[in-house]
Amino acid sequence: MGARRACGVKDVKYIGAVWLQGDNQLAESDYEIIDTRFARLPCMMANVHKLYDQCHWAEGPAYFPAGRYLIWSDAPNDRMLRYDECNGALSTFRQPSNNSNGNTVDRQGRLVSCKHGSRRVTRTEIDGSITVIADNYRGKRLNSPNDVVVKSDGSIWFTDPTYGIDSDYEGNRGESEIDASYVFRVDPAIAAIEVVCDDFVKPNGLAFSPDESLLYVVDTGRTHGAQNPAYMRVFEVDGQSKLSGGDVFADSTVGLFDGFRLDEAGRIWTSAADGVHVYDPDGTLIGKVRVPETVANVCFGGPKRNRLYMCGTTSLYAVSLFVNGAATF
Ligand code: MG
Repeated sequence: MGARRACGVKDVKYIGAVWLQGDNQLAESDYEIIDTRFARLPCMMANVHKLYDQCHWAEGPAYFPAGRYLIWSDAPNDRMLRYDECNGALSTFRQPSNNSNGNTVDRQGRLVSCKHGSRRVTRTEIDGSITVIADNYRGKRLNSPNDVVVKSDGSIWFTDPTYGIDSDYEGNRGESEIDASYVFRVDPAIAAIEVVCDDFVKPNGLAFSPDESLLYVVDTGRTHGAQNPAYMRVFEVDGQSKLSGGDVFADSTVGLFDGFRLDEAGRIWTSAADGVHVYDPDGTLIGKVRVPETVANVCFGGPKRNRLYMCGTTSLYAVSLFVNGAATF
């Protein structure tokens, strides 16, 4: 295990491929084991790799399995970048990008993007043309769509906080016409947009459980007041896509949660200030992937979805895991 062995530390024990200390903390590791349920999830032979480091604020990774490449956003630089997993090549995918933020890939392999600058959600079609999915609610412009997922029925769910209109840093300063920050659902078949959650301060990252019976949504309202939320909530989703519940699933313990994704077992791999925090579906923080910069968003990639891509402030990071990402988008 080389440098990963916890040399000189008392009560070192070996569990599977993992060396643990008495307090379940790995020494000199890219991982932090808080609960033994995390011990077999990282591949201890695989380090966290930095793939690129010239971003201002990396966000919104989206993996395209058909081409084995990753698209992500650098909102303040008004560009989207592309990492080719086959040869390691890095390039600009789109610039200007209307300050794109969160991205995802739908079931047809199309890029769906949140655009701060143009205050809309768009889809890049197979022929390269761009379709506007949503840009207003009841005639009022959206704030600045932040993160997006696509359900298996084709509906597009996104959050709409004000970060992209609060300043010119990652969008264009402007007023909130809606005067609230909602979570929306769009049914592309009938081009209908509806509010699915109206009690968030700043809704941010969101993702479904593998069976889509649960929807997790982060509230980063803390950015706009110490009394505001810094947590992730969980909703039950019924057969008509109606939500119920909405209890707090987890409070962030280091900085704020932002974007996140789930693995096949329903564990949550969420961004945080010191890396990626991993939660068991029962709400227990079981471990961390340590990243030297604040992480804003993640996605699973690779042909087997066992490589975790992490957008960490200036950089794109990746690590191979012993788990596979859920086939949700
Ligand atoms: Mg976000």
